[in-house]
Amino acid sequence: MTFTPAAAYRAWSRSEKMLMSGSVLAVVAILTIVASLLIREYASATDSAVQSANNVVQLIDADVQRNAELYDTSLQGMIATWQDPEVKSLSSQLRQLIIFERSTAAPYKGDLVILDETGDIVADSLSVIPRQDNFSDRLVFKQHRENPSTTLRVGGPFKARWGFKDWCISFSRRLPSPDGRFTGIASASMRLTYFNQLFRGLNVGKNSTVNLINAEGILLARQAEQPDRYSVGEDFSQRPTFRRILQQNSGSFTAVSDLDGVTRLYTFSRVGELPLIVIVAQSRDVVYAVWKRNAILVGGATSLLCLGILWLSYLLGKQLKLRHIAERELAELASTDGLTGLANRRRLDQVFQQEWSRGMRSGKPLSLLMIDVDHFKAFNDRHGHHGGDVALRSVAQTLAAAIRRPGDLAARYGGEEFLVVLPETDLQGARVIAEKIRTAIEGLPPYAGDKHPVTVSIGIASRLPRASDRQAQLFTDADNALYRAKHSGRNRTEFNPPPEMA
Ligand code: GH3
Ligand code: MG
Ligand code: MG
Repeated sequence: MTFTPAAAYRAWSRSEKMLMSGSVLAVVAILTIVASLLIREYASATDSAVQSANNVVQLIDADVQRNAELYDTSLQGMIATWQDPEVKSLSSQLRQLIIFERSTAAPYKGDLVILDETGDIVADSLSVIPRQDNFSDRLVFKQHRENPSTTLRVGGPFKARWGFKDWCISFSRRLPSPDGRFTGIASASMRLTYFNQLFRGLNVGKNSTVNLINAEGILLARQAEQPDRYSVGEDFSQRPTFRRILQQNSGSFTAVSDLDGVTRLYTFSRVGELPLIVIVAQSRDVVYAVWKRNAILVGGATSLLCLGILWLSYLLGKQLKLRHIAERELAELASTDGLTGLANRRRLDQVFQQEWSRGMRSGKPLSLLMIDVDHFKAFNDRHGHHGGDVALRSVAQTLAAAIRRPGDLAARYGGEEFLVVLPETDLQGARVIAEKIRTAIEGLPPYAGDKHPVTVSIGIASRLPRASDRQAQLFTDADNALYRAKHSGRNRTEFNPPPEMA
């Protein structure tokens, strides 16, 4: 390939584009890898937070279920003994002892009672003579009355009217009768202090809470790092976050808390078959604290690295550009004649070679003008070497101005001789251009008032390039034509083959 200034520029912009697009691609690849790693880390932080919340939920679930079973066993014992005809015949003191005998194991128990169908206490763990109280106002009593199912129900929370007088929930069963009639309920209350005790050992972390709510969305117990304004009996059922939890049995999601506006990861599960739900709400800031620190570190380092890559590529691109400019200048110097600025002999040879091959392919004629300044020795003698140089430069400018097509080339062949290559130009066209050149030079203003104008003789050669031809023949033809022009009186154009042979 010929090394021309345009080719050098193309090579530079191509390599600069490759360098920039390569480094941009590398940066994109690095950012993609780091981003996907961070996304994975984020997911695994979520997973482990959900996992540890689930562990807490499972722990509570198991404990609460075990207690519920204990209470249920007590209730079933109470019902069996209450309905036993033999027990009915015993003294009230003994009967109370037997009925409530199995319930002593239940922890945090409040009172245990048997109510008749009107809600009056008929057997009472607190006193041999049942307290004068009626529990028909309790929702769970009404539910038992309306629903024939004899499964265990959880009621409350409510504030006990007797005993410790603190918050309780109740476990209860409907008293079965052979004909399915409602004959009352057996009910045992459990103090909610039990849950506070259970939750106390849990390390929930900053801004995080453990909650137990019932199926109606009423808060039964809550453990927070700092005491907050939510206490037992609070109704959360209308809050969007809790509504979402109440609709599903278990799961986890991230949401902004309706209570304090903090974003939390909620993990929740229903306690067995009971209408109780454990919710662990972990602050997002705590869950992702480690991830966030890593993300800032890794993200910062990666950004710096990417900026470094881009900066280095930019510097390299700049250096590449400088090198290409230098190469371009060198290439120009190497192909230009210093005195006239026309193409030099080296460039002439390259272009002639190219145009010869192109002419062979296209089947179009190639013409050559060999131009020699007349009596230049004498001119030099009259005006000195410097004057000669000035004249040569104006001849060169006239030549350059006379050729218009992009493929045409004017070159200095040596001394006061010039050559013009005219691709795709036949003899006729070449003669027109030669004559144009000759007259233009003849018409140049005389140098330093010289009586003799500068003139040139031009030898023209033209032929269809063929593989069988020697390229040098075209030069010889032009040279011969020039010789004839000199001998025919100078300041004229001659062509080869001569008119009689053409
Ligand atoms: P002719 O009409 O037969 O061509 O006569 P001529 O004097 O031009 O021919 P000749 O070849 O005898 O002389 C060429 C002269 O051109 C010789 C040299 O002094 C002059 N010359 C060649 N190169 C340069 C140049 O770069 N600068 C100057 N000033 N003169 C040059
Ligand atoms: Mg000469
Ligand atoms: Mg000459």
